[in-house]
Amino acid sequence: MSTNVHTVLVLEDEADLRFLLAQNLKQQGYRALEAGSVAEARAALGDGVGLLLFDVMLPDGDGFELLRELRAQGCLTPAVFLTAKSDEPDRLLGFAVGGDDYVTKPFSMAELMARVGAILRRGPLVQETYRGKGFRVDFTRYTLHKGDQEVALTYLESELLRYLVERAGQAVDRLELLNQVWGYDRYPTTRTVDTHVLNLRRKLEPDPKHPTHLLTVHGVGYKFVE
Ligand code: CA
Repeated sequence: MSTNVHTVLVLEDEADLRFLLAQNLKQQGYRALEAGSVAEARAALGDGVGLLLFDVMLPDGDGFELLRELRAQGCLTPAVFLTAKSDEPDRLLGFAVGGDDYVTKPFSMAELMARVGAILRRGPLVQETYRGKGFRVDFTRYTLHKGDQEVALTYLESELLRYLVERAGQAVDRLELLNQVWGYDRYPTTRTVDTHVLNLRRKLEPDPKHPTHLLTVHGVGYKFVE
């Protein structure tokens, strides 16, 4: 399946809600493919979808089952479940089958659009490890390896480092880091970014006062140098 981050597949059998979702997505600049059943969703899936927005209870099946099947086939497209069920077992099942987020009806359209935007901006997760000069990072285990020393990173330190590593050599603005790494549901200040960079330097840099990997770009933010 090719990916096009601007296309969202809306699988929802309530026609009014499906229409409203598609309208809102289009207003946000995305392309929306509409499916009212599992069969229609399957038919639409070949069409370069960047995000799956799935209802759970459908006339010919179940959104959880469909995602479970897609994941088993190797589909990595991020998925958000949209459902009237709010009890914990279903929520956990949503994540267990490979869902990235879960929104309970009734929901705020603005909040849903923010979540969709955050997931699409994040893009497909690709880089699991990175090997630099004198160190290796495992972004799935949040660990930094320097020689035979293993240093634990916090989740945010790991994600911040990953974001900068994926843009090595580019200056990245503090606000971009806040939006992309901290995300839509946290509201820290840009000082938070500085604190995390300082902590990362202490863990990563041979001489944290004279960093060679995590550089300050005055008036902008930071950049990672290999
Ligand atoms: Ca339904």
